[in-house]
Amino acid sequence: MNADTNSNRNQRIEGLRCELCHRVVPERMTSVHHLRPRSHGGGPENEAVLCKMCHSFLHATFTNRTLAESFDSVEALREDPEVRKFLKWVRKQKPHRSINVDRRSEKR
Ligand SMILES: [Zn+2]
Ligand SMILES: [Zn+2]
Repeated sequence: MNADTNSNRNQRIEGLRCELCHRVVPERMTSVHHLRPRSHGGGPENEAVLCKMCHSFLHATFTNRTLAESFDSVEALREDPEVRKFLKWVRKQKPHRSINVDRRSEKR
């Protein structure tokens, strides 16, 4: 399957691929998430380009501490049941849409 060769030019989305949900979103809709903060010895290899929705989901669901201690890789994030549920949903959303991910008040 090679979708690129036959793709309709009007429908092509220029952008970056979110490392978590793998959707291609416009660059302005992406931001860099620090899987491991610099203060915890993180470097460029511990950064992930995420779409805004994934990024806001992570910070609405987990505290920075949980993220740094339990989720220092995209693979680790994908193994979390709550993240999986979110990914299933977010993949059905239009790439250029940004929905405010308003989550629980209690973070993990
Ligand atoms: Zn994403
Ligand atoms: Zn972040």
